[in-house]
Amino acid sequence: MSEHTKSAALYDRAKQVMPGGCSRNTILRKPHPIYAAKGEGCFVTDIEGVKRIDFANNVASLIHGHAHPAIVQAVNAQLANGSAFTLGTEIEVAYAEQMVARSPNFEKIRFVNSGTEAVMSCIKAARAQTGRAKIAKVEGSYHGLYDYAEVSQTAKPASWGDADAPNSVPVAKGTPQSALNDVVVIPFNDPERAIAILDAHKADIAGILIDLLPHRIGVIPALPDFVEALRNWATANGALMIIDEVITFRTNFGGAQEGYNIKSDLTAMGKMIGGGFPVGAIAGRAEVMDVMDPTQGPAAFPHYGTFNANPITMTAGSMAMQMFDQPAVAELNALADKARSALAEAIRIADVPACVTGRGSMFRIHMKKQAPTSYRNAFVGPQEQACISALLDHMFDNGLIMIETCSGLLSTAMTQAEIDQLADTVLNGLRKIKP
Ligand code: PLP
Repeated sequence: MSEHTKSAALYDRAKQVMPGGCSRNTILRKPHPIYAAKGEGCFVTDIEGVKRIDFANNVASLIHGHAHPAIVQAVNAQLANGSAFTLGTEIEVAYAEQMVARSPNFEKIRFVNSGTEAVMSCIKAARAQTGRAKIAKVEGSYHGLYDYAEVSQTAKPASWGDADAPNSVPVAKGTPQSALNDVVVIPFNDPERAIAILDAHKADIAGILIDLLPHRIGVIPALPDFVEALRNWATANGALMIIDEVITFRTNFGGAQEGYNIKSDLTAMGKMIGGGFPVGAIAGRAEVMDVMDPTQGPAAFPHYGTFNANPITMTAGSMAMQMFDQPAVAELNALADKARSALAEAIRIADVPACVTGRGSMFRIHMKKQAPTSYRNAFVGPQEQACISALLDHMFDNGLIMIETCSGLLSTAMTQAEIDQLADTVLNGLRKIKP
């Protein structure tokens, strides 16, 4: 990467003024980050002029690739009319109607500015609705930065505790013990153990937070039995079912929950529903969502946000989601099926202990023979990490941008040609790193 002299120089400046030289650790790579100059369709060109296929899509937040002409045109028109008001806008109402129409579980919706905020708002809404403090979450599942949502994703196996009763482990130093005490951690895809743990906190749990395809657990789907057991437990015990669809919304027209035919109480969304702009959303049952309604008396959960539902995001998001209709979802998922098959074939030909997981338009390559089944066996040890890093470097040097876990996401801007290049590059990379 020594040829990236402009990026190296920019990073030298960045380090002087930002901790780690960035505003999000996601962009960091060794020996320095690469800086983007332009995105177009499924390609990104860096400031050195090198063009690559983008399988990271700003960490799953772009569904139509970069600078889709219809989104650019709509946003430009809105920009000329102003970007933020202390008044409502028609596009906010129209986009809310559009999103509510995508799932029977979305009776009402509010927009925020990130997935972190959406998850936080779901948790606060669940507490306000139930009058309870505790949240149950799946061990290792990532839900953004809210103190309660981020516990139990530590890379230190020694702190995990017993698999029958995983510890509530902080991620950030200084996390209040009170926050940890209010998070009940359950193992993934293990209904029996999960229910036993939940039973011990019956009267105190406001909601169960779950991602149906958690990427920190290897992009493996939640088992229908597990989801059903959690749903039934929540119903029987007066708790709410909160589904984090910040990434998974892309897998079905109405989000991953559509594929499970499950009734959720609240859903957190974000990323791609902003059409490339910062976004989050909370949608759910009207009765629960109305904890944010201040028109009938003081709201149980007073909810604000200066840039919530700003007209730029609403315009871009609405256009992006209009274009992501039922046929577009099916077409993208079919292309991703081909990508997963081609990657599995590359792994077979290279004859390395690796596998590919994923669903919808998402995939992840593991340097493990068997697909993981839990956070604990999805854990990437140092030897495996070295192989993944070498594979990622090979892919980047050969024109592919991936997410650092060796995950990728397709955009509607991609075709079979990009899938062929992905599979060829992975095959060559695996041959190169073969033990
Ligand atoms: N939930 C999930 C499942 C996520 O993957 C993420 C981000 O990666 C978040 C929540 C947080 O979203 P944001 O980064 O927009 O705050």
